[in-house]
Amino acid sequence: MSERTAIAAALATVRSRVADACARAGRDPSSVTVVAVSKTHERPAIEAAIAAGQNVFGENRVQEAQAKYPALKSAHRGLKLHLIGPLQTNKAAAAVALFDVIETLDRPRLAEVIAREIARQKRAPTLFIQVNTGEEPQKAGIPKPEADEFIHLCLDEWDLPVRGLMCIPPVDEDPAPHFAWLAACAARHGLSQLSMGMSGDFETAIAHGATHVRIGTAIFGARPAPPQG
Ligand SMILES: *Cc1c(COP(=O)(O)O)cnc(C)c1O
Repeated sequence: MSERTAIAAALATVRSRVADACARAGRDPSSVTVVAVSKTHERPAIEAAIAAGQNVFGENRVQEAQAKYPALKSAHRGLKLHLIGPLQTNKAAAAVALFDVIETLDRPRLAEVIAREIARQKRAPTLFIQVNTGEEPQKAGIPKPEADEFIHLCLDEWDLPVRGLMCIPPVDEDPAPHFAWLAACAARHGLSQLSMGMSGDFETAIAHGATHVRIGTAIFGARPAPPQG
């Protein structure tokens, strides 16, 4: 099977699993957006997904996205790009210029820099706030105990275009309580969008109300292992 055929088949499988999970949860399948995570994959793989009808993509590094996506975006007008990896303040200007959704707003200093760039560039990506629901020290995201206050500040004091929340549960834990916590937190703040669930747990995430599932491996296949050391 060619890479193109494999990606089209994998996408069809993912879409039918999303539809089944929605049916089990009594949800409309159009309420769930598949964000195809294309990190480490080259343009032909991304083009294959586009040819199979996929138009929402996710990347976790600003520099890699800058190398791959400006050309793809001008060739495919409807393409939407999400930033799903941690954002350094010195890359915020580039992120505001390129991404349609920044899912990883997680601290006041970054909120300040993004607000300034939105005003300066007159371009406002939709924002999600990432919450570190597992309170893992090495992981990005606003710590759970500080989340309510930070969300309140972003929405009500700084008037940022925050529409949802995002989380990445700890790999070795049942993700369900993390998804449930994130959904309840979004509801407290009147936020309608929830980015949660990856290749291994997106059905569980949909059962808990995910509106965006970030899927890499199940669409594009395994990624090369990161360099050691
Ligand atoms: C890589 C990545 C994904 C996709 O993971 P898969 O297990 O390959 O589906 C989802 N979310 C984030 C934040 C990622 O970095």
